[in-house]
Amino acid sequence: MPKTVGVAVSNATFHFDKLYTYAVLPEHQNAVRLGSMVLVPFGKGSRARMGVVLACDAEPEHSKLKYLFDVAPASACLTPELLRLVHFLKERTFCTYYEAVKAVIPYGAQYKPAVAADGVTPVLQKQLTRHTENAYKLVGTLPQKPKPTAKQLAAVALLSGGPRTLNELEDKGISRAVLDNLCTKGVLECSKVNKSIDLYASIPLRNDPITLTEQQQVAYDTLLPKLEDAAPHSALLYGVTGSGKTLVFLKLIARCLELGRKALVLVPEISLTPQMILRLKGQFGRRVAVQHSALNHTERLLQWQMIQDGGADIVVGTRSAVFSPLENIGLIIIDEEQEHTYRSESAPRYSAHEVARQRAAENGALLLLASATPSTESFYATQNGRTQLVRLTKRYGGNPLPSVQIVDMRAELAAGNPREISLALEDAIRRNLEAEKQTILLLNRRGYQTIAQCEDCREVLKCPKCSVPMVYHKSAHKVLCHYCGSQQEPPPTLCPACGGKLQYRGFGTQKAEEELAKLFPEARVLRMDQDSTAAKDAHEKLLAKFAAHEYDIMVGTQMVAKGLDFEDVTLAGVLGIDSLLFAQGFRAYENVFSLITQVVGRSGRAKEPGFAIIQTTDPDNPVLTLAAAQDYDAFYEQEIAYRKLGLYPPFCGLCVIGFAGAKENEVACAAARFSALLGQQAAKQPDLPLRILGPTPGSIEKINDTYRYKLTVKCRNDRRFRDLVRSTLALYEKEKLPSKASVVVDLHSDGD
Ligand code: ADP
Ligand code: ZN
Repeated sequence: MPKTVGVAVSNATFHFDKLYTYAVLPEHQNAVRLGSMVLVPFGKGSRARMGVVLACDAEPEHSKLKYLFDVAPASACLTPELLRLVHFLKERTFCTYYEAVKAVIPYGAQYKPAVAADGVTPVLQKQLTRHTENAYKLVGTLPQKPKPTAKQLAAVALLSGGPRTLNELEDKGISRAVLDNLCTKGVLECSKVNKSIDLYASIPLRNDPITLTEQQQVAYDTLLPKLEDAAPHSALLYGVTGSGKTLVFLKLIARCLELGRKALVLVPEISLTPQMILRLKGQFGRRVAVQHSALNHTERLLQWQMIQDGGADIVVGTRSAVFSPLENIGLIIIDEEQEHTYRSESAPRYSAHEVARQRAAENGALLLLASATPSTESFYATQNGRTQLVRLTKRYGGNPLPSVQIVDMRAELAAGNPREISLALEDAIRRNLEAEKQTILLLNRRGYQTIAQCEDCREVLKCPKCSVPMVYHKSAHKVLCHYCGSQQEPPPTLCPACGGKLQYRGFGTQKAEEELAKLFPEARVLRMDQDSTAAKDAHEKLLAKFAAHEYDIMVGTQMVAKGLDFEDVTLAGVLGIDSLLFAQGFRAYENVFSLITQVVGRSGRAKEPGFAIIQTTDPDNPVLTLAAAQDYDAFYEQEIAYRKLGLYPPFCGLCVIGFAGAKENEVACAAARFSALLGQQAAKQPDLPLRILGPTPGSIEKINDTYRYKLTVKCRNDRRFRDLVRSTLALYEKEKLPSKASVVVDLHSDGD
């Protein structure tokens, strides 16, 4: 029964982030413990703020301690493991305590500040009360006399597939009266269930027996001992597209559940969750919970609660699901592990990999990374023995990988074809249409024309607030900034700098859609990009239509490349990704290789073999030729050599310190000052390996009227280095430069 507690308070800035000590009123002493959500008086006027108890019996800082206003019940407490993760995040990612708390319990914070009935006392109030509804279950057989009605027969038939809620049954036209009548006959049983907890209840439980192929079985057998011995392990399942990695997951999860343990499955983006949910629910039924940001607040909270209450055996979700309050985890799967979406780009800047690794260590779980194009860091870890490598080299069903042709778009232009669709691709699409097969085309630019340039001064039309070109959207007839959303309608025809004529060029998904419609008037073309999938569930619905072959051609951005499994697709095309080839950052090649492999991998997954075409203006680029050959091993050899030579991860850690503010010179000054301070601090520890690069303007100098600078530090990501950055941050904040530049630190691990 602590008399004082150390509390992480919400909204504390980094500089003032510490645990604040509070006294505990006698009536709260029974309730309060480590991990309790509390309401505290804070700052001038003692305004009520949320907080979490991270220390008990903390040393009073002074004699006049304030008392906690209120304490949430123990059921809202962070589990000990999640509490440790808060400290882990704080230590690793330079976030504040409360930022870490919010990452760990984004929707678990079901309590919010309110005022008690007396109109004065601040109290915590539960945000949501559970709603329950009736659910029906089949428990007996329907008597043949008197003759059952059609509705009764329908109800029994439906419920023979498993229990259903009243809501679902009413959807199928069965009334409550019919159901209650069957209850009194002892055919059905009614119980109360929490509303909408089972988000995907309509997915039938099929529980199909899984028969692994020989190669899948070998992979499974290799991984099994690591799952069964309840010690922390990590492995990489490197399997070509269509090799059936998911089947290996399912089998491992089944075994994990048999062992009485739980499984966590991460996918890189929301659009891939429905497929994974479908497979998991179909295989394992109800005890599957979902965590991702497209759920509404109530749904997400209910799912979270279900996990917290021990009602879920499997959790599937995107990056943040790695913090699910799941206990006794035996298996953590990170599918498509190379995807950059596993890194958080706002505080706390963690990677799901490092958190998963930490949780696997705590739980004695197997961490299984999976990919057809593993990240260079993950593959390197298998080469030096830190992670076990398991391979699937064959496609399920025995199809070879698609054969790939590279088309040189410069030659195409020289030969007199001005279009963005090459003759070879046009021909392939036509043949595919005639064979009644489907085609997937990738173009990583949305909009219609992606650039407007002055014919006289060559100036490019840029966003007034960002240093990026404006993109023309034909459907809305305006130019749009893809970074800040600024728009101009109608699109300008004259150069704002010199008054010359603007020429619109560049090829976005809307234009591709139009060209395809012209070339193939009989084809049904589906465009998939951020604009066409903005409405809720639009993405899922469009994919379902494509799966039902209501479209012949799908053209779209990155989202068409990933994870999709359609048996009629036998042609994949890359219309253009050259901008990615020339992108900055040491991962640029890895990203291109992975993207091409993925989109090519959509083709020829079922009965018939597939074909793919890559259009480029740089046909001899080794990344493209290796991607066309789908030779990951050769790509890896080349990439790891480049990383070693240039000193990039996994051969070092990379710490990017970003500065942002409204005035460019202030931001530049702040970056220079920070760099100097860091240099001074580092000089005190000459044995610490460290290389400071920059400061330089950000790769996009200005976004939304905010100038950006960055400092890149090649380092070893260990405690000493992190302490060095922390002490530099403290010094920097103390100096209170006249500038208002903000600073963020993003630390990329060196693979440890
Ligand atoms: P990957 O994730 O490796 O690209 P999937 O797991 O999506 O591949 O499998 C590709 C296709 O092959 C899917 O339609 C899957 O159902 C099927 N498949 C793979 N292995 C098996 C198996 N052992 N039994 C039945 N179907 C399988
Ligand atoms: Zn802008």
